[in-house]
Amino acid sequence: MNTLKINGINKDIAVGKILCIGRNYEEHIKEMKAKIPEEPVIFLKPASSVVRNGEPIWYPPFSSDLQHEVELVIVIGKEGKNIPQEDAYEYVLGYAVGLDMTLRDVQSKAKKEGLPWTIAKGFDTSAPVSDIILKEKIPNPQNLIITCSVNGSIRQKSSTKNMISPVDKIISQISKFFTLEKGDLIFTGTPEGISSVHVGDVIDIEITGYIKSSHKVIK
Ligand code: MG
Repeated sequence: MNTLKINGINKDIAVGKILCIGRNYEEHIKEMKAKIPEEPVIFLKPASSVVRNGEPIWYPPFSSDLQHEVELVIVIGKEGKNIPQEDAYEYVLGYAVGLDMTLRDVQSKAKKEGLPWTIAKGFDTSAPVSDIILKEKIPNPQNLIITCSVNGSIRQKSSTKNMISPVDKIISQISKFFTLEKGDLIFTGTPEGISSVHVGDVIDIEITGYIKSSHKVIK
């Protein structure tokens, strides 16, 4: 079973399901030449796709375009369904920074054929996630800077202020379709600046001032 560490406490949390939101930053929607969705796009990754700080990302042989998407990750702390937006923060344990690693060529082919993104988004090691910061330490999750650099140069940097659907709205909307349980993760979408990586690259992600995670791409 995959687990994540709570920062500052010697305690691990078992990872449940991983729900991901697509198209949640306007500038990223523009770079993908996509449309702002009326309802958020939701997809899943398996819990087995999680890797922790320091663990490598696998470049699978069935793709030739592996891309990084840095995202704020919500960690759910208690079970809930049909959660009203005004109560959403009660269900949050904390936050982390994660990478929604994507096989862009596999995803493009699936999109064209009207097929699910499961392999493109859920392959082994597709969900690197930092240690968890408890919510009490983050007064405003909509005012965080998230960054992604590759081999030391910044590729993505944005504020969570720019999210189209904020944390509380995402929790409320997702919980209409899926019962949320302790240990579930929600990836909240990526800002602009996504790019391809190669074997040997080192990807560093962070929530500025809070937490970092580092991952090398291997064959
Ligand atoms: Mg994403």
